[in-house]
Amino acid sequence: MDQRKFDVIIIGGSYAGLSAAMALGRSLRRVLVIDAGKPCNRQTPHSHNFLTQDGKTPSEIAVIAREQVEKYDTVSFLSDYAVQGRKTDQGFEISTEKGEVFEGTKLIFATGVKDLMPPIPGFVECWGISVIHCPYCHGYEVRGERTGVLANGEFAFEYAKMITNWTKDLTLFTQGESSLAKEQAEKLMAKGVKIIKSKIAQIEHADGKLTQVHLEDGSKVPLAALYAKTDFVQSSDIPLALGCTIAKNGYLEVDFVQKTNIPGVFACGDSTNMFRTVSYAVSAGTMAGAACNKELIDEEF
Ligand SMILES: Cc1cc2nc3c(=O)[nH]c(=O)nc-3n(C[C@H](O)[C@H](O)[C@H](O)COP(=O)(O)OP(=O)(O)OC[C@H]3O[C@@H](n4cnc5c(N)ncnc54)[C@H](O)[C@@H]3O)c2cc1C
Repeated sequence: MDQRKFDVIIIGGSYAGLSAAMALGRSLRRVLVIDAGKPCNRQTPHSHNFLTQDGKTPSEIAVIAREQVEKYDTVSFLSDYAVQGRKTDQGFEISTEKGEVFEGTKLIFATGVKDLMPPIPGFVECWGISVIHCPYCHGYEVRGERTGVLANGEFAFEYAKMITNWTKDLTLFTQGESSLAKEQAEKLMAKGVKIIKSKIAQIEHADGKLTQVHLEDGSKVPLAALYAKTDFVQSSDIPLALGCTIAKNGYLEVDFVQKTNIPGVFACGDSTNMFRTVSYAVSAGTMAGAACNKELIDEEF
């Protein structure tokens, strides 16, 4: 048997990729999982809102997942970074940073996204600890605390409105002139939300735990948590190079069974969906694995 040939190559071996690998391993498929080992939640101390794993560290969940998938002996793992992909007559060829080349009849991208941190000193250190992206993941832990939301415009209105569910001590930082509509600003203020236009110049913290933010106007605002939605890019350029469509919102376009527009190429997890949670990544991975297997059965039968 050619050790370089697989039914499916999965690029990205975090929650979505391992979930796809489990579905395919249980379908007796020869699978290669190539993973660079950098999940987006690696700095967060505890992962929440995933049934059976609530409050575990991200790596605890990943270790259990990996152990369970390793039991399926048709699944192989490679710690490496996939750098290039191309279509061949039989399927696809994937090359890695360490110079390896593999062939797969099908491809699954579970590569996630790369968050782009704003250039505010302290932001990176607090990311996932006290600067947080999602109230469902971390809102409960900072409920009722002095909280900030870093956003502007229509999105800021919706974001701040949502966070009032978890705390009434809320400040919206528009990071410059506010682009909220007058009625939106009035509605937020009527609900007790303070709006500050002076830019956050620095985030003061102790080991990632926010204590206060320093504003450009020289004032300081004590905070325990700051919600922020970062910009992002796809972690891997390969889907785009293969011709996969990336929607205007930055996510890979997939149908309801995680197929991209390129025949034989699937995608799942954060790279495809703005509702970024471990449970969703796992669910989408299962679907991608099962749909990919079904496609192979249909072609072979
Ligand atoms: C700070 C933070 C905190 C979070 N907290 C929670 C929480 O409490 N609860 C919750 O449910 N969700 C949480 N999330 C969301 C959750 O982490 C993601 O939804 C989940 O990790 C997505 O899984 P994924 O497999 O799609 O991508 P990721 O987990 O990001 O994994 C992608 C994997 O692909 C690899 N990869 C990328 N490109 C390549 C390549 N070219 N070659 C090889 N490997 C590659 C990466 O190294 C990585 O291992 C959090 C997210 C962040 C950013």
